Amino acid sequence: MKIVYYRDKCIGCGACVEHFPELWSLSNEDGKACLKEAKKIKNFFMREIQFEDIDAVKKTANDCPVNIIKIS
Ligand code: SF4
Repeated sequence: MKIVYYRDKCIGCGACVEHFPELWSLSNEDGKACLKEAKKIKNFFMREIQFEDIDAVKKTANDCPVNIIKIS
C-alpha cells in the first residue's frame, strides 16, 4: 500500500509527526510536514508503506485536520 500526501495544503499542526515520527518530520524552512523517503509526483508526494504500519498510518490520516493524507 501507499501513502499519498498533498503537502501544499499542510497547516503544520504536527499531529502526523507526533503519531508517527518514523515517517514524518516538520520542515525548518516552511513549517509543513515532510513525508520521509517520498517521491514528489505532480502536486503530491507518495511512498510505499509496510503492511504492519497500515493501522498507524490510518490513524495519522484520520487525525490530520485538513485531510491531506490518503492511503491507496
Ligand atoms: S497532520 Fe496534516 S496538517 Fe498536520 S502537519 Fe501533518 S500533514 Fe500537515
